[in-house]
Amino acid sequence: MSGVIEVRNLKKSYGSLDAVAGIDLDIHQGEIFSLLGPNGAGKTTTVEILEGFRSRDGGQVSVLGVDPAVKGAAARHWRNRIGIVLQSTQDSGDLTVGETLSHFAKYYSNPRHPEEVAVAVGLEEKSKALVRTLSGGQRRRLDVALGIIGNPELLFLDEPTTGFDPEARRAFWGLIEALRQDGTTILLTTHYLDEAEALADRVAVINRGKIIETSTPTELGGRATALATVSWKSSNGVQSERTANPTEFVKSLSNAFQGEIPELIVKRPSLEDIYLEMIGGADE
Ligand code: ATP
Repeated sequence: MSGVIEVRNLKKSYGSLDAVAGIDLDIHQGEIFSLLGPNGAGKTTTVEILEGFRSRDGGQVSVLGVDPAVKGAAARHWRNRIGIVLQSTQDSGDLTVGETLSHFAKYYSNPRHPEEVAVAVGLEEKSKALVRTLSGGQRRRLDVALGIIGNPELLFLDEPTTGFDPEARRAFWGLIEALRQDGTTILLTTHYLDEAEALADRVAVINRGKIIETSTPTELGGRATALATVSWKSSNGVQSERTANPTEFVKSLSNAFQGEIPELIVKRPSLEDIYLEMIGGADE
């Protein structure tokens, strides 16, 4: 297997519960790949197996050409090439931000410069602040900084922007784009559909331990070819029409109004609409 992440028929059970019930994944170099699914779908179990933190019951897994179940020196060499941002934060409250970054940089053979990383996550002004004085969102940025300090080829991001304000989320998306430009492969789990849409090259929807579909965000669930809804305001109130040819329809409306169409909206199903439909359908 030669992709950055290759998974075949991965299985993991807890007692009688099949948390991961035979999934396949192929994640390519330089790609941002997002795993989407409701609570309890099997995302964390899958990701932790890929990170080498959980054992599996069946299937083949290759991460950067290595089986994550590897132990000893080979495991240390492999860990050096990956970065991990977990959901829960570790505690290093009595160090400053700068000290924490410098400390973690020493674990890696080819780390990024701590100051450069502080700038990348927007914490440069907090370099001398104690970690325990950071706000929740700033703390999360530090987690992300620690995930990238080792200059990883592959980065695991689990719910990276939980607790961020909208501005911080946008800034964070910019940071992820910059990592993509550098060729970093990223596996992102998120509950924010707009985040997956903004960042991911491909998404996989997982439910009850199985992958329902893997696709680009724009094509998932037939979204690209779904009917558009055109709505506008007439003298009888708001009207709407579902159509496969919204451009033609808007042209004819424009002719009818002889110009500007009042309160015109053309809408296709959002990624969230499609996702909720897929998850709902899978539950039936
Ligand atoms: P969330 O979005 O809530 O983080 P998830 O998709 O990451 O959910 P998992 O944490 O992988 O889901 O859990 C999948 C299923 O396996 C759930 O039903 C969960 O209760 C169960 N599970 C997870 N870890 C264990 C464990 N250590 N022991 C027993 N059951 C577990």
